[in-house]
Amino acid sequence: MANGYLMVGAGFSGAVVARHLADAGLPCTVVDSRSHVAGNCHTARDADTGVMVHTYGPHIFHTADDEVWDYVRRHATFHPYKNRVKSTHAGQVYTLPVNLHTMNQFFRTALRPEEMRAHVATLTADIPEPRSFEDQALAFVGPELYAAFFKGYTEKQWGTSPANLPASILKRLPLRFNYDDNYFAHPHQGMPRDGYTELVANILDHPLITVKLETTFDPADTGSWDHVFWSGPLDGFFGYALGRLGYRTLDFEEFRAVGDWQGCAVMNHPDPDVTFTRITEHKHFAPWETHEKSVLYREYARACGPEDTPYYPIRLVEEKALLADYVARARQTEGVTFMGRLGTYRYLDMDVTIREALDTARAFLAAHQSGDTPPLFSQAPL
Ligand code: UDP
Repeated sequence: MANGYLMVGAGFSGAVVARHLADAGLPCTVVDSRSHVAGNCHTARDADTGVMVHTYGPHIFHTADDEVWDYVRRHATFHPYKNRVKSTHAGQVYTLPVNLHTMNQFFRTALRPEEMRAHVATLTADIPEPRSFEDQALAFVGPELYAAFFKGYTEKQWGTSPANLPASILKRLPLRFNYDDNYFAHPHQGMPRDGYTELVANILDHPLITVKLETTFDPADTGSWDHVFWSGPLDGFFGYALGRLGYRTLDFEEFRAVGDWQGCAVMNHPDPDVTFTRITEHKHFAPWETHEKSVLYREYARACGPEDTPYYPIRLVEEKALLADYVARARQTEGVTFMGRLGTYRYLDMDVTIREALDTARAFLAAHQSGDTPPLFSQAPL
């Protein structure tokens, strides 16, 4: 009867669901308004330097999910990669995440782990259930380290005081009382050798999957498909009828250099008098490659306008109220599953996106076979 199964958005969500359905024999069409697959994970080799550039900012794959780790490695060759981030504060370079080296350098001490724990305990505030980013930071590291490494960065990144932001954002970052400077605590971490775009293209490489780039889908046409998997913005599906969900967008100021400009992939700049948040030197994301020249991005965050690329969902009280209204609209909609970062308006890492897409595809197939209602969301947005 209808045209088969449509995935709107060729990022990880759309690609993983399409592949799962195609493997089960269902014909899928994947559309994306951009000229490439992989969404904001897109990577492209720079013609002049040969460097693999993370076009929409740095993406480092890390996970504790064995199935997801096996999944991505089935579709691409991964090289080991450890994200080791530095931070320039008040004219000195420190190591992130905040670890014993950072703290000993900052306090000009040579404390051992237990000594540093005891020292930090004298600085932190006793806040039983920290709710805001600021409270979490004060309970976690105390006011000095908070002011040096988190406050300014977070104000620039989110455009608001950390007192207004949820503690969950800070909980992404560990605090270490040893010299481990691996930014992520997950057991699996790596980089796809040929970039994320090739990885997503490989997931989509199936005789039952048709990919159409530079193609927009009008939600009014939902009924002409057997089912639509929407990984575009949730509010966009409804034509922004109730208003726009707030996002932060990023501007990248590209510059080029010869040799090694900053000596590492990511240098954060938390100080408030520096207007950007970080500088990324893309060739360091592929340490197994050698390039004479270098491509770098200065990264600036700002409020996302209608024509900008949405990056980080803001999810403050006001946005959550609007989100609840859109979720109510979605509940009255048939034939659609809303997925991924934009479809569920959540700050998602790549591995979580893939996990949810796998689960959604399985739930969809089970419902398809039993005649049950398919899932409305890959994960509840609220
Ligand atoms: N953050 C910070 N200082 C830093 C790095 C991060 O205060 O040097 C805060 C900031 O609010 C940021 C959050 O921690 O949004 C999460 O950081 P992460 O590195 O996970 O951000 P992403 O790479 O996803 O932008």
